Amino acid sequence: TYVESDVEVLRYSDEFRVLVDRDIQGKLTSLFLLFRKSEETIDWIRSWKTTLFSLLEDVPVNLRPLIASISIDGTSATTIILDSNTGEPLWRPFLYNESCPDALPMVKSIAPANHTVCSGTSTLCKLVSWWNIGGANKTSAVLLHQSDWLLWILHGKLGVSDYNNALKVGYDPEVESYPLWLLSQPYSQLLPSVKAPGASIGFLKEDIRTKFGFPKDCVVCTGTTDSIAAFLAARATEPGKAVTSLGSTLAIKLLSTNRIEDARFGVYSHRLDDKWLVGGASNTGGAVLRQIFTDEQLEKLSDHINPMEASPLDYYPLQAVGERFPVADPEMAPRLHPRPQSDVEYLHGILESIARIEAKAYRLLKDLGATQVEEVFTAGGGAKNEKWIRIRERVLGLPVRRAIQTEAAYGAALLALKGAQHN
Ligand code: ADP
Repeated sequence: TYVESDVEVLRYSDEFRVLVDRDIQGKLTSLFLLFRKSEETIDWIRSWKTTLFSLLEDVPVNLRPLIASISIDGTSATTIILDSNTGEPLWRPFLYNESCPDALPMVKSIAPANHTVCSGTSTLCKLVSWWNIGGANKTSAVLLHQSDWLLWILHGKLGVSDYNNALKVGYDPEVESYPLWLLSQPYSQLLPSVKAPGASIGFLKEDIRTKFGFPKDCVVCTGTTDSIAAFLAARATEPGKAVTSLGSTLAIKLLSTNRIEDARFGVYSHRLDDKWLVGGASNTGGAVLRQIFTDEQLEKLSDHINPMEASPLDYYPLQAVGERFPVADPEMAPRLHPRPQSDVEYLHGILESIARIEAKAYRLLKDLGATQVEEVFTAGGGAKNEKWIRIRERVLGLPVRRAIQTEAAYGAALLALKGAQHN
């Protein structure tokens, strides 16, 4: 740490500054170079591994002998390419939001139109981009997702994934294989084998087991993505049950008996055993609320809202121009006017308008052929607003409840339970 007023700071850029300290006569006594780490230089691999082991360390010693099974969820499309001989990464990890537009034309030329992989951030674009750069050790390379890689550290069998994580690399969970258009590519040799989420892969490696005191028959199971794990946490296990996440944006996920895909609205389905988790995300949500009100104001103003009364105000709260779902319109402008004098009325209008968008989203999924929604669980920062829940019940015409568990880690633990039961 340093106090800027005590030293002379010569800034060169956001990443790089020089600090100079002088004595009373102005003679230079010390000189520091400070670098702020950029994304490029952060050693993600080491920090994820260190975190994994510190979490194992955190399991109370008296509970460790009782741990029957372990699973991990990870960020979807965070991709690691390893050397299968040494287990060493051949490239820095591609993070979930990193785009590889260089690979997009090639991916679009082999994949069916509007396939999930046809996005610069897809795992397949990352793989193709690495392949085109001419990455070293191509013949012995293997691709893993973040959770596959962390699980591999625990079980030691290289090259295993689950069909939720593998969706964005092109795996087809319906027919349980990679499609031919992908298998015919030279880089298909890097693709991991795929199991159902929560399937037992093998026992915890002996050195880890003995170091931490986990039991001999502790199994390690395939994981899933963060957002699916968060859905699983709500324990919405029947078709027709849905989870609306009211965080910065509004995201809905509905358990359906059939698979729905529509790239126009960014709607696609993940497989969950014999059902499909259909999802879509709107750009509306809590981020707009936060632009106008503090969280304390939200609570106070909400207290004065009568949720049984419909607000006549018709808004479309967006942070910026453009909407994808349930209306695909890149030109859609935010609509938050007229603003009434009363902040209570204003907030009521915004909450009601977001509820109407949510209702429209569920209607769209039904129109696209998904199972009719019957009950909605709610997660995210907006879930604590009881008045909003009542408004949404009225607008949706459905029971709405706050999910008891919303942490992705809880969903991963449920997957581990499934793996232990089937072992
Ligand atoms: P994320 O993880 O997507 O950033 P969170 O799930 O943490 O978001 O939720 C944060 C959002 O919740 C904020 O945008 C905020 O406007 C909203 N929020 C917080 N308190 C309330 C409230 N009482 N009523 C409605 N929305 C709220």
